[in-house]
Amino acid sequence: MERTELNTLGEFGLIDRIKSKFTNKNAETIKGIGDDAAVIDVGDKYMLVTTDILFEGIHFDLSYTPLRHLGYKAVAVNISDIAAMNGIAKQITVTIGLSNRISVEAIDELYEGIKFACESYNVDLIGGDTSASASGFVVSITATGFVDKDKIAYRNGAKPNDILCVTGDLGAAYFGLQVLEREKQVYLANPSMQPELTEKEYLVGKILKPEARTDIIHELNELGVIPSSMIDISDGLASELLHICTQSGVGAMVFEDKLPIEDITMLTATEFNVSPITAALNGGEDYQLLFTVKQSDFDKIKNMSDVLPIGYMTQDKAVQLALNSGGTAAIKAQGWNHL
Ligand code: ADP
Ligand code: MG
Repeated sequence: MERTELNTLGEFGLIDRIKSKFTNKNAETIKGIGDDAAVIDVGDKYMLVTTDILFEGIHFDLSYTPLRHLGYKAVAVNISDIAAMNGIAKQITVTIGLSNRISVEAIDELYEGIKFACESYNVDLIGGDTSASASGFVVSITATGFVDKDKIAYRNGAKPNDILCVTGDLGAAYFGLQVLEREKQVYLANPSMQPELTEKEYLVGKILKPEARTDIIHELNELGVIPSSMIDISDGLASELLHICTQSGVGAMVFEDKLPIEDITMLTATEFNVSPITAALNGGEDYQLLFTVKQSDFDKIKNMSDVLPIGYMTQDKAVQLALNSGGTAAIKAQGWNHL
């Protein structure tokens, strides 16, 4: 038997491999694997379905992740995928895998966070599953949502000259995680030390309590603007922009000086000796929306406080960063290389 190591394929290679083995049989399946959510024709609207799984030790560390925040975040990241289709989430199911280290009070706390998210995003918890887990705590959430058929935004609709926009600052969640990891090491070395996080509150908040940008979806709708393409930033701007470009058959030019990076992110980048641009491009977990609009629509949204134009789409398939120093660098899914 041939044996191929998983890392030769990577996550996206593996998903493509799975996708290539299936064809959809049902006319209601409008979009299957390959976007932020699946799209199902349910009559006068499209229903959207998305799912995410979070593993202890991979996606979160219980030593610095309050379960209330974990519950909230597990919901928010799914709502964000529904928003990325220009849709509004309505229902969730929650599946938990429990080790015997978890107490009833801890599960109560997780569900407090889930409930808080259900209130703030106006979604209903409609079911789930509960099981024992041999590999730590697991939370998996599936969300459904709806969108008018003529308002759906896929990853594949970007056109040359469309304006590329992002809905908030980038790289903060990455440094929030670095700060938490650093404080954990300090604590492990000397348990009498208390973490010093006040200055980094903004960054830590971004990793522990991300918000799905449903506000943007409502505002775009009120302004009558439908993005020509959209995705949410879970893996980092670079990776998500490459999805839009590959699926749309276009390239992009992003301006380094337009990348929204907060002062505290800049400061912390210096502290950790990491380029803030690398963190903004590849840090991930920002959960901002990345979308394109036609130039003629840009006038309608240019005064929205949280819509920041960072570049434009090109006929040429290259995906590039225009550097402050002059010249360009190719944007790669991981890291970025000077030309
Ligand atoms: P996102 O980052 O927006 O959550 P992913 O990169 O997780 O998106 O997934 C991309 C696409 O691949 C989605 O359509 C998702 O449903 C699909 N997908 C991911 N993993 C699998 C899998 N194991 N089997 C089938 N489809 C999958
Ligand atoms: Mg997504």
